[in-house]
Amino acid sequence: MSVLDIKDLRVSIETEQGKKEILRGVDLTINSDEIHAVMGPNGSGKSTLAYTIAGHPRYEVDGGSITLDGEDVLEMSVDERARAGLFLAMQYPVEIPGVTVSNFLRTAKTAIDGEAPRVRQWIGDVRGAMEKLRMDPSFGERNVNEGFSGGEKKRHEILQMELLRPRFAVLDETDSGLDVDALRVVSEGVNRIKGETGLGVLLITHYTRILRYIEPDHVHVFVNGRVAEQGGPELAHRLEEEGYDRYLKAGV
Ligand code: ADP
Ligand code: MG
Ligand code: MG
Repeated sequence: MSVLDIKDLRVSIETEQGKKEILRGVDLTINSDEIHAVMGPNGSGKSTLAYTIAGHPRYEVDGGSITLDGEDVLEMSVDERARAGLFLAMQYPVEIPGVTVSNFLRTAKTAIDGEAPRVRQWIGDVRGAMEKLRMDPSFGERNVNEGFSGGEKKRHEILQMELLRPRFAVLDETDSGLDVDALRVVSEGVNRIKGETGLGVLLITHYTRILRYIEPDHVHVFVNGRVAEQGGPELAHRLEEEGYDRYLKAGV
């Protein structure tokens, strides 16, 4: 079993108006085979948490720690984080002109394993993974993220997880424009991979919609850079009915 442990995490960014504190002491512990939902109003710092775990240089860590099985994640390069078993959906959001999905996946697999996969085995694995996701094989020949719809981006993320087999996945569901079909693909994929490999998931979302398909074990409500409340799946159901007003009014 693995543990991703976030303790008293404080993060700021440099803006034109000076330093801006965004995360103000976040504690979160995720074990293998658990799904944690981080929910909260816009601007509460959810994506900042994701970018910080990903190692985005814009986000400065002022205090606290992130460890993976005791190893200091904050000391790792972005590549080392991937090799350690962290999968970060927003690590690859950009278009990569001239790089096909097939080549991208093979390069990522090689970087993570430290050696290139055997060609025959790999071709079979990719084909199998695409079939599970009901993707047309021609998808492999498209350039990464170039003209991808929201649903295709999500399918591509799940395809990566399927083939790279991370220990923890951080999924920032910023794309609220997902149709029901794309939601199903994401949630079926996450649930299946979790069942097969004991993946731990940090699912970040403003909306409760995806939580109808992926039942979280733990829900953390983020307000103003802190966890304002924690609970089980019932908390997501309550938020679906009540929204975030009560937290905003309380001025947490
Ligand atoms: P959420 O994902 O919960 O909507 P974010 O983490 O995106 O929240 O943003 C938290 C706060 O930090 C917001 O006030 C946002 O404007 C600010 N912020 C985040 N990233 C940047 C950035 N790169 N430049 C300027 N402000 C940022
Ligand atoms: Mg936002
Ligand atoms: Mg966000």
